[in-house]
Amino acid sequence: MATSRKIRLIMELRRAGIADTDVLSAIERIPRESFTPDSFRHQAYENVAIPIGQGQTLSQPQVVALMTQALKAGRRTKVLEVGTGSGYQAAVLSRLCRRVYTIERFRELLATAEQRFAALRLHNITTLHGDGWKGWSEQAPFDRIMITAAAADVPAALVDQLAVGGRMVLPVGRSSRDQALLQLRREPGGIVEEHLADVRFVPLVEGVPEEQAYGAQRSGGRA
Ligand code: SAH
Repeated sequence: MATSRKIRLIMELRRAGIADTDVLSAIERIPRESFTPDSFRHQAYENVAIPIGQGQTLSQPQVVALMTQALKAGRRTKVLEVGTGSGYQAAVLSRLCRRVYTIERFRELLATAEQRFAALRLHNITTLHGDGWKGWSEQAPFDRIMITAAAADVPAALVDQLAVGGRMVLPVGRSSRDQALLQLRREPGGIVEEHLADVRFVPLVEGVPEEQAYGAQRSGGRA
């Protein structure tokens, strides 16, 4: 059952223009049902976005495929993902590159994603609970950066953490109705930008959620 649905989804992605066989086989190998809440498991291989709690969503397979294909992450590349969410996109990337670093601002979402990575033995994913706007300076530079939430503008700190010759794929737009999926290449002479598609993502939000900052402060024992 799940297998025939999965094959149908792969065929749908091919028809939508996803031609990179490495990307298609990574999508075939990662069980999307492991990244959806139980109540949405029956939709795991439909070409739809799925709610994952905290008002966030696991992106539509076609968008995951398009972004992954545009990123061109090869075996030797070091990739940063901003917005771990369910962990599905990081899992797909982990089959294509050397190491994935992924940042999430909701502690609960990150903890669930970490359990999924461990259960599937995806050992080349490193996680961080924090604000992805700032990137991950200790691990920079990155060969590839993917942002899976929409910012009004390209986050400058992330461009700084992109290696020369590197690529970034991200949605940019001021409202949910007006977002563009962009690919940026950092060339020696500057940034080259390409428009890939019109998309709809949840917003990239600055900082980590309030009650978590409060919890961290308490456990830190501050007066
Ligand atoms: N890549 C995810 C899609 C998640 S939706 C997946 O495969 O399931 C976008 C995610 O970005 C949400 O989980 C949201 O909490 C997170 N996010 C939004 N702003 C952020 C920020 N500043 N830093 C880190 N994560 C952020």
